[in-house]
Amino acid sequence: MAVGIVLVSHSAAVARGAAELAREMAGDVVLEPAGGLDEPGEPLGTDAVRVAEAIGRADSGDGVLVLMDLGSAVLSAETALDLVDGIDVALCDAPFVEGAVAGAVAAQAGEPLAAVAAEARRGLAAKTAHLGGDEPADEATPDDDDRRSWRRVELDVTNRLGLHGRPAARIVRTAARFDAEVRVADLDNGNGPVSARSLASVMALGVVRGHRIEVSAAGPGAAEVLEALGALAATGFGDEAEPEPAPPPVRTPAAVPDGVTFRGLAAAPGSALGPVRHLRLTDVPDPDGSPGTRDEEAQRLRTAVGDVGRELAAARDDAAATLGAEAADILEMQALLLDDAALLDAAVARVGEGEPAGRAWRGAVAGVVTAYAGVDDDYQRARVDDIEDVGRRVVAALAGVPVRRTVSGPGVVVAEVLGPADTAALDRSLVRGILTASGAPTGHAAILARALGVPAVVGAGEAVLRLDEAQPVLLDGDTGAVYVQPDRTVRREYERRQAAAGAAHDAALLTATEPAVTSDGVRITVEANVGSLADASDAARQGADGVGLLRTEFLFLGRDEPPTEDEQVEAYTAVAVRLGGGVVTVRTLDVGADKPAPYLRQAREDNPFLGVRGLRLGLARPDVLSTQLRAVLRVAADHPVRVMFPMVSSLDELDEASALLDRARAEVGTGVHLPVGVMVEVPAVGLLAEAFAERVDFLSVGTNDLTQYVLAADRGNAGVAALGDACHPAVLALVRRTALAARDRDRPVAVCGELAGDPTVTSLLVGLGVTELSVVPTAVPLVKQAVRATSYADATRLAEQALRRRTAAEVRRDVSEPQRAMTR
Ligand code: PEP
Ligand code: MG
Repeated sequence: MAVGIVLVSHSAAVARGAAELAREMAGDVVLEPAGGLDEPGEPLGTDAVRVAEAIGRADSGDGVLVLMDLGSAVLSAETALDLVDGIDVALCDAPFVEGAVAGAVAAQAGEPLAAVAAEARRGLAAKTAHLGGDEPADEATPDDDDRRSWRRVELDVTNRLGLHGRPAARIVRTAARFDAEVRVADLDNGNGPVSARSLASVMALGVVRGHRIEVSAAGPGAAEVLEALGALAATGFGDEAEPEPAPPPVRTPAAVPDGVTFRGLAAAPGSALGPVRHLRLTDVPDPDGSPGTRDEEAQRLRTAVGDVGRELAAARDDAAATLGAEAADILEMQALLLDDAALLDAAVARVGEGEPAGRAWRGAVAGVVTAYAGVDDDYQRARVDDIEDVGRRVVAALAGVPVRRTVSGPGVVVAEVLGPADTAALDRSLVRGILTASGAPTGHAAILARALGVPAVVGAGEAVLRLDEAQPVLLDGDTGAVYVQPDRTVRREYERRQAAAGAAHDAALLTATEPAVTSDGVRITVEANVGSLADASDAARQGADGVGLLRTEFLFLGRDEPPTEDEQVEAYTAVAVRLGGGVVTVRTLDVGADKPAPYLRQAREDNPFLGVRGLRLGLARPDVLSTQLRAVLRVAADHPVRVMFPMVSSLDELDEASALLDRARAEVGTGVHLPVGVMVEVPAVGLLAEAFAERVDFLSVGTNDLTQYVLAADRGNAGVAALGDACHPAVLALVRRTALAARDRDRPVAVCGELAGDPTVTSLLVGLGVTELSVVPTAVPLVKQAVRATSYADATRLAEQALRRRTAAEVRRDVSEPQRAMTR
């Protein structure tokens, strides 16, 4: 009995030849060649099943050493491990021919598996010495009996999810900082050693909590890297810094049936039941036409991988600045997966065997995915999605087409976040509900979900990303409750609620086109917030009196060039026509922070919400703003239109914008009246409302931004969503101040932030002196009804009470029980 040896090569002839040579030296050792494919016309390649069969034949009870040549040979051998049971197998990174010979000699001498592997790795020593080189220190391995040049430590894995994506990525990043070769092996499941430079390999080790890993290092930085990795392990591989996310606060702990699986933040009203549909990059077919030469295909592949790497790095930076650390981490992990030389090497090896670049890349990705399928951990298996996403990005880059995210069918769309471009690309007819891992109710993702008119829950945590595709899920967009596999009782209860809400909405719709007037005769204009032509149609259907906020930045998403003047004239005219005579308030481009526009590529900013966004960007790019102003002036000649500047903070900015407007007017040669307004989003504008009211025709309070700036609570961050409540008395005080300033100068004053669409606060806003409410189209009928249900006198008392309150919670209590509030 002795250790058997399997030789895995792309070429059957090479495998047989190496076995023959080794047999010359070592007589009767069992050497099993496993080379080539049986495919007619495609003899070169490796096959995991063939390798597994060879391992079975080579085993005589003492274990099997497997030697591999390039790229996919390694992946096939790794896959083969899943196909054999009960055999002690060592995948060995020794040189193929020399290793076979040296290993065979050791096996013949009756050495155990570890020693045979060590001997195989030293196979090059004689040749190196002969040619005058140093003995190759890094041919040694952790299994080596001679550990002079290798240092090793054993580390406990204590973090919750083991070496899943992010901790594994931290190991890779740490290892890369030192001049050392570093390897990791799982001492509990026997997987590895693998290179610590390969994220895919480290993740595929399947290290879960409670396992002990062996980290070995060779080279000048060996001691330092082990120390750094030891320190990393002491922090749970960086996971300690990120405690288990607390369930996000639920603002309205309304009664919900038992059995809630996740709690997120209520982002768009109503409930939705449907299969989980993860938002994924679409598959791109390989382009037609014949491939280039092998060298050309390999070069194409390298270029595509490089391009995608840069794209991911830029996307990660954008996400870090605008969407938060979690979204950035996912992109960072994808960038590391892409950077993994093993993946590119495997693909290039396939190209070398004659496959075109696209097929070779898909094959290499499939090899890694197969390796993951064998990992005994749900979370790590779920990382397959990241690998597949990276794979699709490269295939798209090879095909020269843009990547797009979409869903596989109708259901509840599940995603980390939903960006403006995703929403624009989504087929509305497939979206029954939206469930996101991060985000907060006034972030733009939530606003877009509301505009789609579907129920949504945001900030529900990363666990939602691990739901199985097609698994039934029910989400409650009024409370943030999410049920996975809801039982009959839960379904029935929500069917009942949905029917009741539908009936209430239908009843309100009957009078929606009529004006909203309080019981004591005060008319409130109820308009719609619009970001697309579809929204404009909804606005008209729901009886909106006009458009209080046209988010023009959403009309031209996914473009590389700014929209031309004519394109803008066409777009704004189309909106105005759909509204059939109602005033359309065109807000100039509000680009920046979480609304980047590819055609206005901006420099990276550390604090983009405090950076060049809104009017600041417009003034920095007067060409773009002037084009837009000319377009608005041209539309104003035929339709009732107003123009509004976003993210204003000083009167100087207003002066500059007004000067551009005057110039645009001269260029267009029009004398048309175009009312001009500013948004009150920066506290300074609310505090100086009197001065602004003197200079403009109307004011419009953007409570989404105003709240985040007054309370220093990022509007897109679920963790501070409870702090960022627009009902905070400090925010209301600024609304009041703005309303009084506007009234003194006889100017209309609107609220167009999301607060305006909540019928429970309609009376409060009316009482604060607001004359216009601009809301998501579907909310128009209920908000109009809420106006009719209040009297101006009662509303004023409610507002006075609210301004005396100290917390948002107290105000929320008052508005839900107005009678009690007003008698106190
Ligand atoms: C606001 O900030 O309240 C607003 C309406 O603008 P946006 O949500 O588009 O930033
Ligand atoms: Mg805003």
